[in-house]
Amino acid sequence: MFYIRYHNMYTNPLHTKISYLKGVGPARADLLRKELGISTLGDLTNFFPNRYIDRTQFYKINDLQDTQAEVQIVGKITGIHTVGQKRDSRLVATFSDDTGSMELVWFRGAKWIKENLKLQTSYVIFGRVNLFKNTFSMPHPEMELVTDYKKSLQTALQPVYPSTETLGKRGVSNRVIQKIIQQLFIDFKGKFKETLSDEIMQKHNLIPKNEALFQVHFPQSQEQLAKAQFRLKLEELFYIQLQLLRNNLVRKRKIKGNIFEKVGDLFNDFYKNYLPFSLTNAQKKVLKEIRKDLGSSAQMNRLLQGDVGSGKTIVAVLTALIALDNEYQVAIMAPTEILANQHYNAIVELLAKMPVNVSLLTGSVKTRVRKEIHKNLENGELHILIGTHALIEDKVKFKNLGLVVIDEQHRFGVAQRAKMWKKNILPPHILVMTATPIPRTLAMSVYGDLDISIIDELPPGRKEIKTALRFDTQRLSVFKFMKEEIAKGRQVYVVYPLIEESEAFDYKDLMDGYESISREFPRPNYQVSILHGKMKSADKDYEMQQFVNGKTQILVATTVIEVGVNVPNASVMIIESAEKFGLSQLHQLRGRVGRGIDQSFCILMASHKLTHEAKIRLSTMVETTDGFKIAEVDLKLRGPGNLMGTQQSGVLNLKIADIIKDSSILKMARYTAQDILREDPNLKLPKNTNILHTYAEIDRKTGVWANIS
Ligand code: ADP
Ligand code: MG
Repeated sequence: MFYIRYHNMYTNPLHTKISYLKGVGPARADLLRKELGISTLGDLTNFFPNRYIDRTQFYKINDLQDTQAEVQIVGKITGIHTVGQKRDSRLVATFSDDTGSMELVWFRGAKWIKENLKLQTSYVIFGRVNLFKNTFSMPHPEMELVTDYKKSLQTALQPVYPSTETLGKRGVSNRVIQKIIQQLFIDFKGKFKETLSDEIMQKHNLIPKNEALFQVHFPQSQEQLAKAQFRLKLEELFYIQLQLLRNNLVRKRKIKGNIFEKVGDLFNDFYKNYLPFSLTNAQKKVLKEIRKDLGSSAQMNRLLQGDVGSGKTIVAVLTALIALDNEYQVAIMAPTEILANQHYNAIVELLAKMPVNVSLLTGSVKTRVRKEIHKNLENGELHILIGTHALIEDKVKFKNLGLVVIDEQHRFGVAQRAKMWKKNILPPHILVMTATPIPRTLAMSVYGDLDISIIDELPPGRKEIKTALRFDTQRLSVFKFMKEEIAKGRQVYVVYPLIEESEAFDYKDLMDGYESISREFPRPNYQVSILHGKMKSADKDYEMQQFVNGKTQILVATTVIEVGVNVPNASVMIIESAEKFGLSQLHQLRGRVGRGIDQSFCILMASHKLTHEAKIRLSTMVETTDGFKIAEVDLKLRGPGNLMGTQQSGVLNLKIADIIKDSSILKMARYTAQDILREDPNLKLPKNTNILHTYAEIDRKTGVWANIS
C-alpha cells in the first residue's frame, strides 16, 4: 500500500487562536482574521513582511530633500489644527526639531488622532515627505513615542507588513502588527519546531527554522535576513513540490495503463516511406519520451508544449500509429470545428497511403454519417477519430480506445479529460498539446499531475516574422503595404478583438473594419472574407475554405482564427487595436503567419494612448518571436494567477517565495523533493520524521491528501 500515516500525538501550540496573545483582544483578533486571514499563532508566524526599511538613519528637518524617500525624524508636536470644511477637512500638526518645522497631515481618522496625540512630547515619526510651498509635510506618518521606541526590540531593518485600509483606519498600524509579533516571539522564544531534516539543512547550508523566523521578522543585518529568507523560501517551495510529486507518484501507481509493447509495421512503414520531412531533434526527443511512457505499465499523462509551428501534429500522428500498432484506437480532440477540420485534412493527407481509417466527428456531421461512425467505432474498423466536444458524447463508444490526443487544452477542462477516461476499463494514454508556452519552472509547479515534454526548436528554414507597431494615423501606408503583398500573390489576415463574442460594441468595430477594407479593396480585383463567432457553422466553414483555397485574399476575422489555423500562403497578419490583446493571444495570432516559404509580417495597429503595460506588451512582440520569452514577460505582467491550472496548485498562495524571482530556489526545491521521494516515498525513515510531520500538518490544512489511502 502507498499511504502516509498521520501523527497527531501532540497538540500544536501554533494552532492557538491569536486572541490569547497579550495585546490582541477579541475585537482586534476579529479584525486581523477578516482583513489578513490571520486566526492562529501559526498564521501570524507565517505572516511575512513585504519589504524592509533601513531605520538606522535619522534625519533633521533642515536636511530633508524633496526625494519622496521614506525618512525617520525625531521631534515634538507644537500645535495642531483642522483645515478646510467637512469632507475636505484635514488635520494638520506642526512638528519641530532643533533645526526647523514641518507639517504632519491626516486626511482620515482625525478624531482618534486628536484624542491620542501628545503635544510637546518626543516622537519618532516615519513616512514619505512632500515639499509644498517651501514647507515639508508628511501625510499619515507612522508615529511612536521615543520612550516606547527605545523599549521596543530594535532592529536595523524595519519590516513592513502587508496592510489594508480598514486596518489603518482602525489603528492597527505596522507598528502594532510588529508589537503583536514581538509578543509572539517573547512567548515562543526558541520553541518553533524544526520543519526540515538535518540532511536537507546540511546539504543547502540552511539556518534553523527558529532562527529563520526570528530573523525574517526582526532582521539583525542584511546578511542574516538573506539567509532567513532563503531558508523559508526553500522550505515553502519544497513542500509544494513534495505534494505535487507525491501526487504524481500515487497516480502512477494507482492508474494502470495499457502497455503498448511494440513499435510495429504502421509506425515503421510511415516513418521510412511517408514522413514528408526529417524530424527535428526536439521532435525526436519528445517522441522518445512518449514511447517510454507508452511502454510502461502506467497511464501516460503528458503535456506537450511547443511554440506555434514547432510541429506538434506530426508527433501526435506518430504516437497514434504506435497505438494502432498495438491494436488500439485513437481519439484526437480539437477545441473548434475549424481546427478539427484542419487536423482531419492534414492527417488524412499524411496517412493517405497507409491502411488506416480516419473519420471526422463534429457537431455539424449529419446523422447518417454519424451513425456510420458510431458503428465503425464499436466494431473497431475505425482507427482514428478526430473531432470536437462531440467526441465525448455518451453515444460515442470505442471498441478499444488506447490514446487520446487533446490539442490546445486550455479550452478543455480537467472534467472533460476525466470524462474520456471513463469510457474504458483501463484509461487511455493522454497527450495534451499546447502552443501556450509556460516557463518550465512554473510548469513544474503548476502541472504536477502532468509530465512535460517541450519542443524547443522550430523546423529548419523558417524565416523570422517581421513585426512592426503602427498607429491609426499610418493606416494608409498599411493599406499600401497590403496591396503590395497581395500583388505578390500573398494573403492577409486582419484581426479584430472581440473580447466577448456577444458584445455589440466590438462587433461594430469588426463590421466597420470589414466595410472600410471592402471599400479600400473593391471587387473584382480583391475578394474579402469575413469570419466571426456569430456566424452559422456552415457559413464559417465556407468563408474559411474560400481563404484556404486562395479564392479570397483578405480574411477579416475575430480571434476565432487564433488557434491552429494553417494557411501557408497567408504571410501578413494585421492585428487591430493590438493594445487590447494579451501577450499570449498576440503571439498565437502572429503564429498564423510564417508558415510558408515567404517572408511574413505582423503589423500591430494601436492607438496613441497606450498604458505602460500595453507598451511593454507591444514592444515585446516587436522585439522577439520566442514564445518562451514572451510567456515570461506575460507572467511578469500578469502574475501566475491568470495562467491555466494555477488555481489548483499552491503557487498562488505563496507566503514568501516568488515563483518568478525565485525560480532557481524552485529548482533546488524540486530536486530535493525528488531525492527524498526516490529514497523514501512514504516518508517512513527516521531521518525524515520532521518532514513527515510538517507534511501531515500541511495536509490537515489543505485537505489535499485526505482521500489518499
Ligand atoms: P504546431 O506545433 O503549431 O501544431 P504543426 O504541427 O501544424 O505545428 O506544424 C507546422 C508546420 O511545420 C506544418 O506545415 C508541418 O508540416 C511543418 N513541419 C513540422 N515538422 C517539421 C519538420 N521536422 N521539418 C519541416 N517541416 C515540419
Ligand atoms: Mg497545431
